Amino acid sequence: MTPPLYDVAVVGGGPAGSAAALALRRHSPDLTVVMLEAGDHRGLKAGEVLPALAAPLLDSLGLGAKFAAEAFTPSLATASAWAGESLAERHSLFSAAGHGWHLDRARFDRLLADGAAAAGVDLRRGWPVAGAAATPFGWRLRSAGGAVLDARLLIWATGRSWRLARSLGAGVTAHDRRAAFLRFFADAAADGRTLIEARPEGWWYTADLPGRQRVIACISDAASARAARLRSACGWYGALAATRHVRAVLGDGAVELGAAARPAGTVTLAPVCGPGWFAAGDTAFAADPLSSRGLVAALRSGIFAAYAAADACEGRGRQAEARYAWLLAQDLAQYRDALRRHYAEAADHADQPFWRVAAEEIGPVRHE
Ligand SMILES: Cc1cc2nc3c(=O)[nH]c(=O)nc-3n(C[C@H](O)[C@H](O)[C@H](O)COP(=O)(O)OP(=O)(O)OC[C@H]3O[C@@H](n4cnc5c(N)ncnc54)[C@H](O)[C@@H]3O)c2cc1C
Repeated sequence: MTPPLYDVAVVGGGPAGSAAALALRRHSPDLTVVMLEAGDHRGLKAGEVLPALAAPLLDSLGLGAKFAAEAFTPSLATASAWAGESLAERHSLFSAAGHGWHLDRARFDRLLADGAAAAGVDLRRGWPVAGAAATPFGWRLRSAGGAVLDARLLIWATGRSWRLARSLGAGVTAHDRRAAFLRFFADAAADGRTLIEARPEGWWYTADLPGRQRVIACISDAASARAARLRSACGWYGALAATRHVRAVLGDGAVELGAAARPAGTVTLAPVCGPGWFAAGDTAFAADPLSSRGLVAALRSGIFAAYAAADACEGRGRQAEARYAWLLAQDLAQYRDALRRHYAEAADHADQPFWRVAAEEIGPVRHE
């Protein structure tokens, strides 16, 4: 039997993939779009503070009202003990863009994916793409379970999973070995701020989550995490107890819901697009969480990738690829400078292994 042929297959149904699929349907309603998501948009996920800059992007996707109806918790301030022990606070009240939000990430990702489905995207949950092969008409995708479908173009948005790199002829470069050691809590005291604290082993952050939940994470690197034993509950709680500000907001009645370790370093892809495919979100360029740029960048690059894919479907693939690669390269250049400066500012710990490496410039990146 001949597999179904779509104009565009979006692989990965996170924020980047959903934004791409939705923007395609809004921009080019004649194109048929399928979105293939390995999971089911449930469960605990890192990446929960949505900056205010996301609001116009959600509006442009037609999701502004639905997002408002979710009533996610406003993120009113960021407080950081970074260049010294005392807290410096930045309040959203004084920001022209207004406040951001503390998300329930699974609920946010579902909102976006369901919005894409409502706009006519064929959403397939539980469809982990295991391989992509070039064909005379585009691509043939194969799921881990053996299902097959065809598409003229691919938008590759599988987050920090680069399984398709070899099939698409792209190279992945990890620039450091940073990771996040997270724990989620229920019945936690609300605080309204995102709190950041530099410590010798790395830096900690904590944020409210909807429903009186809270996430606390330590970002460290492989060697410092091993020395501080952050993978074990005993080491992690011991290091938390040595923080001054982060431990104080947890409150006495909080109950741990679960723990996770997630890669959190800078990873780049080269090239970020090629004949018949465009990478978006973390897949194109995964940033250190210190930059707070992940979700906005995922939405924005998803939208750009949709425009590029629509141009490519109309026979302007070469121009679309060149413009898309240029846009993403601009983003990366700004990020590299800012990240090095931010890490260098935490001078109190400059002699510690984590901070010595973090303050170095991330390596040269080839972008074509
Ligand atoms: C510890 C930590 C904290 C962070 N905090 C913040 C924050 O506060 N604010 C912020 O803006 N950003 C934050 N980020 C970054 C943010 O989470 C990411 O940038 C964002 O999730 C990227 O969206 P994405 O759609 O590119 O990828 P993802 O959100 O990872 O989505 C990718 C999707 O692809 C699916 N998938 C993977 N492989 C396949 C496959 N083979 N086939 C089909 N589907 C597949 C996955 O199931 C997933 O649904 C944080 C990141 C980390 C690690």
